[in-house]
Amino acid sequence: MPGSRIEFKNGRLIVPDDPVIPFIEGDGVGPDIWRAARMVIDTSVERAYGGSRVIKWHEVFAGDKGNDLFGTPLPEETIEAIRKHIVGIKGPLTTPVGGGYRSLNVSLRQRLDLFACIRPVRYYRGTPSPVKEPGLVDITVFRENTEDVYAGIEWPKGSEEANEIIDFLNTRMSTRIKKDSGVGIKPISEGATKRLVRMAMEYAISNHKKVVTLVHKGNIMKFTEGAFRDWGYEVIRDEFRQMVVFENELKGDVPPSDKILVNDRIADSMFQQILLRPSEYSVLAVPNLIGDFVSDALAAQVGGLGMAPGANVGIPTAIFEATHGTAPKYAGQDKVNPSSLILSGAMMLDYLGWNESADMIRHGVERAILDKQVTYDLARQMDGATLLRCSEFAQAVVERL
Ligand code: NAP
Repeated sequence: MPGSRIEFKNGRLIVPDDPVIPFIEGDGVGPDIWRAARMVIDTSVERAYGGSRVIKWHEVFAGDKGNDLFGTPLPEETIEAIRKHIVGIKGPLTTPVGGGYRSLNVSLRQRLDLFACIRPVRYYRGTPSPVKEPGLVDITVFRENTEDVYAGIEWPKGSEEANEIIDFLNTRMSTRIKKDSGVGIKPISEGATKRLVRMAMEYAISNHKKVVTLVHKGNIMKFTEGAFRDWGYEVIRDEFRQMVVFENELKGDVPPSDKILVNDRIADSMFQQILLRPSEYSVLAVPNLIGDFVSDALAAQVGGLGMAPGANVGIPTAIFEATHGTAPKYAGQDKVNPSSLILSGAMMLDYLGWNESADMIRHGVERAILDKQVTYDLARQMDGATLLRCSEFAQAVVERL
């Protein structure tokens, strides 16, 4: 395979001009949106750097294609290729509900220790939105990705393991868990919390963000969610003290302009805040389950999941991905909105340090939407829109890069 490897040395990513980047096309609508995204990404790189930089794509397999070619939905070769090449991009993958194999996305995150799910949520002008002032939203969510109830430690009702745990807790810990319960465990650790909050703080500093908020449900789940808040404050106090002001230290309403305001919010209140006062927030650090909900709620405010980019990031490995699912009813119809994967591609280019091409993509997406050249999901909410197929939308973006 031609192309060079991205390397990570002395805490820095070293990106050649012809990096090999593995991609997983994905299931359902994955192939449609991947074709569209790849065309936009390649064209933006070509236009920004006049051929002196080029991505050497390398297909790796997961989901249906993994099953067909390797007899498993997540072949070891795929994990190893992403580990080796450090940066990857993927379409959505099917997860069976209730049984079958575990979520491939969760497995990928755990196997590669991609401990932060990063979702920058901002408004692209012209996008139909259910709220009055979607432009007030410019919030990046850092969701913990490896633990919480998502760690997959659970047993079905009546299983030997569930019965044993219930007996143990009821007899030794004086709990009163009903015998016909399924059981799941919610671990939240100091180490995983601190590395997530550290990453959120470093992002806030390098991107000149003004507020970092720890979101949690610590009033109820004191030793998991509550500890998340306490450890979050601790790492900020220990490592970033000079750069921040805590909310309880504020003398007036306005924090000093050279400091990042750090506060915390209980999750239910946060869901109100993002609707009522979104402009007061800029970076959220959140445990896994609540982070999942808050990311999608924010995405809805700026036009839905079809518009929301995302990445799963460790140190240094990162996989950029469409944040919606496989939308199976639209598979193979060249119909859905590829913006999520296109904008994740822009995030990936930023991660490589190729910011010029990333900016071009964001500009192109916004211009296409402002010109009302959109796919069905946006067209049905706009007056006078031109309805485009997935591939035609990609073409419209390319024409406006
Ligand atoms: P989904 O695939 O996200 O689709 C739900 C609905 O969202 C679609 O029917 C469609 O709405 C809208 N939608 C999704 N993507 C869109 C796009 N690109 N453009 C326009 N509209 C879009 O959610 P799901 O049906 O719950 O999940 C299907 C499968 O995907 C499941 O197996 C699930 O586990 C998996 N999944 C994977 C990931 C991932 O790989 N990261 C994430 C979430 C879900 P309308 O019907 O209103 O048009």
